[in-house]
Amino acid sequence: MSKYWSPAVRDLTPYVPGEQPREHMIKLNTNENPYPPASGVEKVLRDFPADHLRRYPDPVSQSLREALAQSYSVDTAQVFVGNGSDEVLAFAFQAFFRQERPISMPAITYSFYPVYCRLYGIDYRTIALGDQWQVPLEAFTADSGGIIFANPNAPTGHGHSRESIEELLKRVSECVVVVDEAYVDFGGESVVPLIQTYPNLLVTNTFSKSRSLAGLRLGFAIGSEELIEGLERIKNSFNSYPIDSVAHAAGIAALEDTQHFEDCCSRIITTRERTRRQLQQLGFDVLPSQTNFLLVRHPQYDADQLFIALRERGILVRHFNTEALRDFLRISVGTDDEMVSLTETLSELTS
Ligand SMILES: *Cc1c(COP(=O)(O)O)cnc(C)c1O
Repeated sequence: MSKYWSPAVRDLTPYVPGEQPREHMIKLNTNENPYPPASGVEKVLRDFPADHLRRYPDPVSQSLREALAQSYSVDTAQVFVGNGSDEVLAFAFQAFFRQERPISMPAITYSFYPVYCRLYGIDYRTIALGDQWQVPLEAFTADSGGIIFANPNAPTGHGHSRESIEELLKRVSECVVVVDEAYVDFGGESVVPLIQTYPNLLVTNTFSKSRSLAGLRLGFAIGSEELIEGLERIKNSFNSYPIDSVAHAAGIAALEDTQHFEDCCSRIITTRERTRRQLQQLGFDVLPSQTNFLLVRHPQYDADQLFIALRERGILVRHFNTEALRDFLRISVGTDDEMVSLTETLSELTS
């Protein structure tokens, strides 16, 4: 606390990101991709003319938005890009959720959403998860000030079909529905095609997970032109240049290499399912996952004890110290070798 802080700053509860250790560890705590980005990205970085940095970047990131529009079969005017999807989400909260009525979100979901609510003074209600840890879409009501959930959800891993989400959209045409698809490329079903029918649907996604570019900070949203224009109004009232020239060029290179993208995603899915079976053999409960992580618990061993023991052995996973998640560890899917180290270490720790 400082007397110099404005009252709004005193009242914040900032998001706490997963640790980025300085020493070498097997890092399975922040859902980064274990594989390098497309080789075209490396070429962009190697050949980028430093002299170009004298100039400001393109304020509308035209070429990157065109490349995204092409990848997702939408119009360029239906695409917004930002400095990580965290920024895109922050803009969406400001643009659409500062309403009289409270917004709705699942009780267990990406923990940044309530942080944005505090920052922007948005009141929110939470919806308890179903008995299979699914987001109960039927519990969202049409009188909400807005609706947000991740699909597949984090850190639970369950995803809904496009058809189920369309049922929700048919019921709630008066408020904006944000579907955060950060993990959709690992086996979820995208609702991007529905933006043509539902002008209140905004889909967000990121280059951080499935495109191996967490360090570059690139995220995007796809939605109707009117929603995209709302995001642009916020962006242009805050920072005209959220995408630097290097990130712009590297992002385009990443989108061009669809083969690399598909190979990485399918390798991660294969490794995830192998790891699931091995953890189950060790007695862990493993939630079904359509993402690049597994949420697990062991009926006989405390999650925080396992977390500490793994850390001492050079393996970093994520433990959330909240009521609902205290018994669980969230384990990002790494390379096959990393996951062998993980399961061998857990085997020693649980025998
Ligand atoms: C990782 C993550 C993000 C943020 O991604 P960035 O683009 O790196 O800011 C957003 N939503 C969910 C659910 C995530 O897990």
